Amino acid sequence: MTETAAAEPFVLDNSYARLPSEFHARAMPTAVAAARLIRVNRPLAVQLGLDAQALESPAGLDILAGNRVPKGAEPLAMAYAGHQFGNFSPVLGDGRAVLLGEIIDRNGARRDIQLKGAGRTPFSSRGDGRAALGPVIREYVVSEGMAGLGIPTTRALAMVATGEPVLRMRAEPGGVLTRVAASHVRVGTFEYFYRQGNNEAVRALADYVIDRHYPHVADADNPYHALLEEVAARTADLIAQWLLVGFIHGVMNTDNVSIAGETIDYGPCAFMDNYKPATVYSSIDRGGRYAYNQQPGIGQWNLARFAECLLPLLDDDEEKAIAQAQAVLERYIERFENTYHDGLAAKIGLQERREGDTELAYDLLKCMAEQGADFTLTFRHLADLGQASDSRDDGVRALFDDPAAFDGWAARWRQRLAEETRDDAARRVAMRAVNPAYIPRNHRIQQAIDAAEDGDYQPLEALLAVVARPFEDHPELADYARPPAPEEVVQRTFCGT
Ligand code: AMP
Ligand code: MG
Repeated sequence: MTETAAAEPFVLDNSYARLPSEFHARAMPTAVAAARLIRVNRPLAVQLGLDAQALESPAGLDILAGNRVPKGAEPLAMAYAGHQFGNFSPVLGDGRAVLLGEIIDRNGARRDIQLKGAGRTPFSSRGDGRAALGPVIREYVVSEGMAGLGIPTTRALAMVATGEPVLRMRAEPGGVLTRVAASHVRVGTFEYFYRQGNNEAVRALADYVIDRHYPHVADADNPYHALLEEVAARTADLIAQWLLVGFIHGVMNTDNVSIAGETIDYGPCAFMDNYKPATVYSSIDRGGRYAYNQQPGIGQWNLARFAECLLPLLDDDEEKAIAQAQAVLERYIERFENTYHDGLAAKIGLQERREGDTELAYDLLKCMAEQGADFTLTFRHLADLGQASDSRDDGVRALFDDPAAFDGWAARWRQRLAEETRDDAARRVAMRAVNPAYIPRNHRIQQAIDAAEDGDYQPLEALLAVVARPFEDHPELADYARPPAPEEVVQRTFCGT
């Protein structure tokens, strides 16, 4: 009986299960009728130190579908609360997800293995605990696309079709996503205990998070203050990176904000095609609270909710605690701006930073917004331009409603480029390394979902191939870089999992 672990796809540890009982509810996945494996993310499996073949075997499928749990698993649903569109919900929790447990990956990092769509839990309230295949595919594609872009995110290890219908606006095929996260602790997890006045649990959770994600802050004068600083810094960097690729999360409720600084809970998320700062795709975001350009401010609002939970741990004197928290929230804005402005400078090929660079980048964005230019392709094609205006300009110019509108900006940009020491070839390489050719475009995601629902997984596989390596050219799949034709444009995205 010593070698059974080799055949078991997951060897789990359960540190979250060892936290006090109010942190979670035991929850077994519910078996499904006719599980079929859609795919296993092999490169990720390798990174995690898992045996991809074992995952793809019938025994692996049984686990990925929730029909069996691995030996040693103590499956649970995590308790959390959250501010949803500004309103506080005291009890949310994992209503359609089960944490199987944690594994230690090849880098020694602890990662959660969660089945999303695995059936009802004690937190399901009136929900069915299930996920529709469409949103499962969307989360898989977009989270893997984010990973390809180098942006912190939860990952998708596998997708299974359940063979059971789920009832949404209509009956849809069901699916289960195996999600991997640094952890699933959210701002809302802290709020759950704080709002109950359970400061001991807040402290226990903070200690757990420090130990798991920020061990270096344990030695700080006040580790909880240092924790707040760290979470604020990671959140600032994360949201800056979203903006730099045109990503709109769509539901930045505090229950969808990871304490580890990963993008989490992909619902009605989307990447912009043409640059419009006030863009909203989510059908439920009527007021535009989570519009593209609202995200940095909402990030701060969410951090303020986190800071509130930590106040009792920051200082016994409430006023002093509040002052500390406010200072962190101000530094968050600074940090966001630094990361965002550095990122913009890199996107337009500036290596050195000069006065006026941010304005130059903002003027391009303004022109793009006025001229309906595609966000991704404008920056990608900008790399091709030389020091002097010539036919290589045509690719970018064609993206602007009035191509001449680009020329004035380009002249200023070239003047500024002349001050750089880096040569054109090196600049081009650097620009192509930060400006993707491929993003998971809405219309492609929709096509992949529609085809998959008809049993054709080829469009999904093609899309995944390009978004996993978005900075490389894929000549045979070049069409995936193309913005949607007018009839392909997706106006609205739905939560619907
Ligand atoms: P979201 O904003 O989509 O991340 O979900 C908000 C809350 O609703 C979370 O507590 C989810 O667990 C819960 N929830 C969403 N969909 C379902 C479902 N189909 N069944 C049970 N709970 C759900
Ligand atoms: Mg959520």
